[in-house]
Amino acid sequence: MASRKRSRSATLLSEIAIFAGAETDRTADRFLAVLRKHYASLDIYLFETRGRRITPVESDVEIEKLVDESDVNSCLSERKAITIKSPKKLTVLVPVLVNNTAAMMVVARPSPRSRVDMEEFAALVHAYGSVLSIVQVSERDTLTGLYNRRMLVRRLLELMSRLGSPRRRTSDPVSAHLALMDLDRFKKINDKFGHLYGDEVLLLFSGLMKQSFRSSDLLVRYGGEEFVVVLTDTTLANCEKVLERFRGKVEGHWFPQVGRVTISTGAVRVSNQALPSTVLDQADQALYYAKRAGRNRVCIYEKLVKEGLIEVHEPPFGGVELFEEKRKVPTRRTSAAASRRRTTSSRRRPNNRPS
Ligand code: GH3
Ligand code: MG
Ligand code: MG
Repeated sequence: MASRKRSRSATLLSEIAIFAGAETDRTADRFLAVLRKHYASLDIYLFETRGRRITPVESDVEIEKLVDESDVNSCLSERKAITIKSPKKLTVLVPVLVNNTAAMMVVARPSPRSRVDMEEFAALVHAYGSVLSIVQVSERDTLTGLYNRRMLVRRLLELMSRLGSPRRRTSDPVSAHLALMDLDRFKKINDKFGHLYGDEVLLLFSGLMKQSFRSSDLLVRYGGEEFVVVLTDTTLANCEKVLERFRGKVEGHWFPQVGRVTISTGAVRVSNQALPSTVLDQADQALYYAKRAGRNRVCIYEKLVKEGLIEVHEPPFGGVELFEEKRKVPTRRTSAAASRRRTTSSRRRPNNRPS
């Protein structure tokens, strides 16, 4: 029995180790998947803990349905696993410590006849927390927990290399759209209510993003009060619909104390013939147009170009179909350099965005 258990732990850890050299967020996902596979006899529920709010991750089961509030509180305050034995069920609560705070919580229930070693399981959940801590530091924004800008560029490059190739399951070509969202008149919020309320708005806004987009979409805090979402496998029309719905959701949300907040969005199709900076610059141009047109709206780069509402300085190499026939395709170096220049100048522009 002991050796069987040892060999299972060894298999499990070696499966995780294969991914440990890869990007840390992938390692974390993989870690969880391997845990779930090896402990298939456990019902495992994952919760995100934010202060007093505890929300399920990838499931609709509320924590109150599984354990008493007092047990949750003692698990969080003592920051160690607790076991609750009842005549019918054994339940184990394990806090996932990220940077020394309980950022998540795992509730596991073995089926009555399972021979799972719950101590071993709890130790592995703690190890999972350590991996998440590394992810948190290197790839996530500390306030919102969304990906940071560095990860956006890395993921965009990776995505671009797959664009156009057939998807494994459906054989539809891989496609993606990028949207840059900027909170409207955010400076006023800071000025009127103070930075702490401003931060709370950013946090709540990121929560709305997490609720509204698919888990396969990439959610990023691009900087300050600017956020990016990369929507995969959707058409331009559908992307516009989704973004418009999200815009409406934000507009309809009541932010405590602050009240209503709106966003402006610029979106563009991600082309495999451009650089991340070019795609971001095009989204920024559409966003800038949305601001000029009165804010609280979604503008699509391709549509603006087609309607002659914005000027194309230089097309991305290989080109978006809309204008590739009309223009000479620049070399990769020229376009990238020009794009970087534009990005720098337009990124400095927000303060001067016309009212
Ligand atoms: P616009 O509609 O043109 O976007 O107006 P705006 O006031 O939002 O303009 P701008 O983008 O220039 O202002 C962004 C403000 O966001 C400026 C900065 O003080 C604030 N900000 C940036 N990062 C943070 C943050 O982490 N927390 C808080 N509270 N404020 C931030
Ligand atoms: Mg801004
Ligand atoms: Mg703003």
